[in-house]
Amino acid sequence: MIKKVLRKPFLNIFETVFFIDFIIGLSTTLKNLLRKPFTTNYPIEKLKPPIRYRGAHGHFVWDGTEPPSLKAIEKFMSFERGKSRCVACYMCQTACPMPTLFRIEAIQMPDGTKKVVRFDMNLLNCLFCGLCVDACPVGCLTMTDLYELAGYSRRSGVLNTSNLEQNAIDWKQRRGKEKDRIWADDEMRERLWGKIKWSG
Ligand code: SF4
Ligand code: SF4
Repeated sequence: MIKKVLRKPFLNIFETVFFIDFIIGLSTTLKNLLRKPFTTNYPIEKLKPPIRYRGAHGHFVWDGTEPPSLKAIEKFMSFERGKSRCVACYMCQTACPMPTLFRIEAIQMPDGTKKVVRFDMNLLNCLFCGLCVDACPVGCLTMTDLYELAGYSRRSGVLNTSNLEQNAIDWKQRRGKEKDRIWADDEMRERLWGKIKWSG
């Protein structure tokens, strides 16, 4: 709805004497003064991002909870329990609009299996679009709810394999059992965006 605001060139005598415009303006201020604030008092108050939030990346580890369809690749990979389940297929890097932010290296072991020896991601160049996660064929790469990524050096923006593994382990422990939904809870969504009126 468009509200047309008419600006009067002159106030009448009544409005001038009794400060009517001033009182109307002040009433808006007072009304909002008593309302619950819309903003959060960050960093004292922190919002919990929704489960689908696209924060810092993580690598799910090989821990026995993988789907049976992934068991077959165990024969070809030199996996360690509790370590990344990456197979160095480079699909994430291929899908990424900034492929140079990845450094992925793998070697062949004496028994013929493949071992990932390096997986670095420079998040300073990341758009947090999530295309890499969608491309990962073994469900290794994920995005977590970590959003406080500022650091004192450019080096701190680069995640290596251990950082990625730790991010995913922590994220799974904290949020792994939550239902997949865009918002963490309806109360938070309504606080930020108001009540949603579903059509139909
Ligand atoms: S989130 Fe997007 S920009 Fe960042 S690494 Fe993944 S694909 Fe690349
Ligand atoms: S797509 Fe997944 S398995 Fe392939 S290199 Fe990237 S993280 Fe590793």
